[in-house]
Amino acid sequence: ETQLSPLAEPAERDDESTLRPRDLHEFVGQPRVREQLQLVLQGATRRGAPPDHVLLSGPPGLGKTSLAMIIAAELGRPIRITSGPALERAGDLAAMLSNLAEGEVMFIDEIHRIARPAEEMLYLAMEDFRVDVVVGKGPGATSIPLEIAPFTLVGATTRSGTLTGPLRDRFGFTAHMEFYTPEELEQVLRRSARILGIELRDDGAAEIASRSRGTPRIANRLLRRVRDYAEVRADGRVDLAVAQAALAVYDVDDLGLDRLDRAVLSALVRSFGGGPVGVATLAVAVGEEPTTVEEVCEPYLVRAGMLARTPRGRVATALAWSHLGLTAPADAPG
Ligand code: ADP
Repeated sequence: ETQLSPLAEPAERDDESTLRPRDLHEFVGQPRVREQLQLVLQGATRRGAPPDHVLLSGPPGLGKTSLAMIIAAELGRPIRITSGPALERAGDLAAMLSNLAEGEVMFIDEIHRIARPAEEMLYLAMEDFRVDVVVGKGPGATSIPLEIAPFTLVGATTRSGTLTGPLRDRFGFTAHMEFYTPEELEQVLRRSARILGIELRDDGAAEIASRSRGTPRIANRLLRRVRDYAEVRADGRVDLAVAQAALAVYDVDDLGLDRLDRAVLSALVRSFGGGPVGVATLAVAVGEEPTTVEEVCEPYLVRAGMLARTPRGRVATALAWSHLGLTAPADAPG
């Protein structure tokens, strides 16, 4: 079974670093985010101070990590990378923070999954560039204040809604990343093809782009799969016919939905009559974690107009029914 999930797989990391845009100019799409961020960075540079903390929110594979690296590159500073789940103990965070040099960028991926004590330490660090390190246990425990160098925190989250208020309030700038248009994905694909030495025709690029779920990571992944097909079964050139034949082999449907997307729609329609049904129930039906269904599948299904979130639960739209080759009931939302 082909895995088209927008989540990164370890085997891809090398390729991802080759294909990663290196500055704001190379970063395709997200025009509003780019303009706003450019102002934040230029303003800070003029003042000679580290910019405000930045929160990047949006579904996986849309370029949050890339943007964090670009922020550091544009500032000409090193970046330290960690993730919410890795910061289980506040001591780990204290060690990282106290090793930062002035103006460095610290990137925390999946910041909504940070453990509570680390989160509380982060408040003080973000606001006052200080951490309180607790030494000892019980009544004899003392807290030692430790100065840290002014730095810029870049946090990334797939769910800004679940961030606590105090944490969200400490970011001076929040960017919401949107799904990419097919034209933007074509641009991503042309750049990747150039870097990887793939001969990509315009009609091939358009076909792959339209099936990439609005996600650059998926576009690049499909490009590599289509390249395999082109080299093994054709003359190496990627055009419309090769793209279509390859994507059929890999079971990517004409809307780019992957196995899990289709399983969610199918359960919603076939097992729950189109809904409404709660996300937890839906997740059990497809054998996935609710968070995966909610953060990975749903945003694109909503954006593609196939799933609606209502106060009573998830509902399949008429488009979802017809995509599965079924007739929608009269009350299905349009
Ligand atoms: P996220 O952190 O949101 O999951 P990443 O920054 O890791 O996403 O992006 C995944 C890959 O997609 C990158 O390695 C890069 O190749 C590609 N990519 C993402 N956004 C862009 C963009 N705006 N322009 C070009 N390539 C991009």
